[in-house]
Amino acid sequence: MTDLQLVAPLAGWVLPLAAVPDPVFAEGMMGPGLAIDPIGDTLHAPCDATVATLHAAGHAVTLQVGAPAAGVTLLMHVGIDTVAMAGRGFTPLVAVGDRVRAGDPLIRFDLDAVVQGASAAVTPVIVVEGAEVTLVDPAHDRLIAVGEPLVRIVAGQGGTIAAANTDEGVSREMTVHLPHGLHARPAARIVAAVRASGAEVTLLSGERSASAASPVALLSLGLAHGSTVTAQARGGDTAAVLDTVEALLTAEVEAAPAAPTTAAVQPAPAPAPASVAEPGAIAGVLAAPGLAVGLAAWLRAAVPDLPTGGEGVAAEQARLVEGLATVATALDAAAAKGGQMSHVLGAHRAILDDPDLRARADAAILNGMSAAAAIMTAAEAQEAQLRASGNARIAERADDIRDVALRVVHAILGTAPAALTVPAGAIVLADDLLPSQLAALAGTGIGGFAVAGGGPTSHVAILAAGMGVPMVVALREAIRVIADGTPLILDADAAILIPDPAADRLVQAKATIAARAAAEATARAAGDRPAATADGVAIHVYANLGSVADAQAAAAAGAEGCGLLRTEFLFLDRTTPPDVAEQAEQYRGVVDGLPGRPVVIRLLDVGGDKPAPYLEIPAEENPALGLRGIRVALARPDVLDDQLRAILAVPDVERCRIMVPMVASADEMSATRTALDRLRDELGIGPVQLGAMIETPAAAATADLIAAHADFLSVGSNDLTQYVLAMDRGNPALAAGIDGLHPAVLRLIRMTCEGAATRGVPVSVCGGLAADPLAAPILIGLGVRTLSVPPARVPATKALVAGLTLAAAQGLASEALAASGAPQVRALARRFAEESGR
Ligand code: PEP
Ligand code: MG
Repeated sequence: MTDLQLVAPLAGWVLPLAAVPDPVFAEGMMGPGLAIDPIGDTLHAPCDATVATLHAAGHAVTLQVGAPAAGVTLLMHVGIDTVAMAGRGFTPLVAVGDRVRAGDPLIRFDLDAVVQGASAAVTPVIVVEGAEVTLVDPAHDRLIAVGEPLVRIVAGQGGTIAAANTDEGVSREMTVHLPHGLHARPAARIVAAVRASGAEVTLLSGERSASAASPVALLSLGLAHGSTVTAQARGGDTAAVLDTVEALLTAEVEAAPAAPTTAAVQPAPAPAPASVAEPGAIAGVLAAPGLAVGLAAWLRAAVPDLPTGGEGVAAEQARLVEGLATVATALDAAAAKGGQMSHVLGAHRAILDDPDLRARADAAILNGMSAAAAIMTAAEAQEAQLRASGNARIAERADDIRDVALRVVHAILGTAPAALTVPAGAIVLADDLLPSQLAALAGTGIGGFAVAGGGPTSHVAILAAGMGVPMVVALREAIRVIADGTPLILDADAAILIPDPAADRLVQAKATIAARAAAEATARAAGDRPAATADGVAIHVYANLGSVADAQAAAAAGAEGCGLLRTEFLFLDRTTPPDVAEQAEQYRGVVDGLPGRPVVIRLLDVGGDKPAPYLEIPAEENPALGLRGIRVALARPDVLDDQLRAILAVPDVERCRIMVPMVASADEMSATRTALDRLRDELGIGPVQLGAMIETPAAAATADLIAAHADFLSVGSNDLTQYVLAMDRGNPALAAGIDGLHPAVLRLIRMTCEGAATRGVPVSVCGGLAADPLAAPILIGLGVRTLSVPPARVPATKALVAGLTLAAAQGLASEALAASGAPQVRALARRFAEESGR
């Protein structure tokens, strides 16, 4: 036998063997071949042959082609696990020894019974024995009718499926030189190049083969650095496409910037956090303080109920096509907006176009599934392949496939994503968290958050701190190997996650949690009485609020007042600004929620990363350095006047203090003061305190000048850190470095305290640093006398203050100012905490 043409033995969808949901077939252990997902009910002979065996259960047949010594043996196995059907639904039409011609019927079967009774109906057609063969010109990924050419079997060449090694086809051995092996980015580039070339390219590695038009198939080869592959190409300019593939397997190609304003499309991995505090721990970056123990629960969007059975192949295929098109349009529209997400959206678009995903989904539809169930099944099979690769970078793509498939499912079903749920007390693991996801989980008893990406001063971190839930970010891909249900200790104060801790470590963590809970209970019992250090210095503990509900939580936690009301909550996510009456009602609600206590209302802080579309701030190249905070208010005096009027309309206005965000000069304070005084005069209202947020290096350096126009100063350490260190607070690649305990930030806080002291103006801190247990003693040592923290942190902060003396805090602060960097400051502060028995 030198060249044998097989014709399709079954009507159905032709698939690569790798798509068969049984490794015995999929991994080529039985031999090379193809598979057909049937739509017909009769298995025919693919060539002239003799029936060599017929399984007693009637579901599988082998055919001898040519003389036993020189020919090959073909196996055709109807469905997977059909042996368990014990012959039900199968009617053999031939007997062992019969000679058959191509196209003769061999086995009739009840397709419905196979679909219901077996794990799959897909039917492998395999060369199980004989001389070494190569399968040439395989049909692939299309519907085929009985008798149509399926594949040619050619003697020699090692037993794998190959593209035709005809005159126009070429193959080339290549070595993977990519340092991380073939991972998602080069795979996507190979796919793009191959698709653009019009050539058919297959990569062969051992017994596995992958179409280079499918990123998932390529990744599933699991090609590590140093692996060799054979690339086979035919059609188009084969030499050129193989050159391109080889180049992409050789060196990483960085994406060219799309435009001068969109530099890196792929953020660099976050730098390693400075130190791993204990063996077995994964180091990250503190985002919300606290200590928790619990079981790991990955945050994954829930799959909606999927209709199992389809309503006919044509109808379901039309639904699939429509769903894919809807998602493609949505992804293209989102990507067109540019920005940090565009590389993710581009990757999602490539997944959507993946022929392997589509072929699997089509096959599932032919198997009787609904379009929604089919795309999910296809995605799950691809996910499993990627997770099995054992390579974190490849495995992380599985979440993207799931994400894309879920989008298609929702598009097909016309549904919206369901609410997120995780078990109470769980430590939630996530690649990244959206504020909306966090908000959806509020009040569900989450133990903690451990996030691979993220930044410590992002608004998600603020939300977590507000919920009183510890959060560590920038844990990077190290957390990907943690399975659901793994016991964890999340020590956010030390910025570490400890998977599978030793029993004694777990006992110790639980004891610390219990001791802290007891100290907090004592602080809570003291109500809103001011906290004081052990040597009697009053330290006010206020709460940061973002809503009326927060005010009630703050009052219950014993806050002495509100040190920061983020009024943006009223202005974001809407198409028109709130009017004076609506604002006044909300401010009054917050003030009423904290009876008898001062409430610092921050003027609108939009712009930058908090867009309010109706304010029509023109697009900016550097929004963080653009029109934000008080700059917006001074550019839009109507907006400022409305907000000031609303504050002045609060019945208890004498308890209100007004705070100005993003101040960079004393002039901005005097302009705001002028507007306030004008309205007070107009409304006949007495003095109202006006304070400045110290969030820019300029404000810290001129604190004495600003204090001349201010009744109080409040350090916004989140922004101050971002601007002092020139590090975007939302950039996960910088998360490990953006630490408010950097001596540069501390020196500016000291400068702020010194400047304020020249005018006798008090200084508070309302950024995340105030709630960081390692930072609070340093801040007090620097001269800060009010800490404003999330409501949930009020009792813990009061308990911490009670355990300090001013002299010790001052000693620690002066050591911190002289330290060489934030990690050194943290080490000093940790030692200080341990010595104080915390
Ligand atoms: C800060 O920058 O520290 C601050 C409190 O303001 P926000 O986090 O709302 O920008
Ligand atoms: Mg700020």
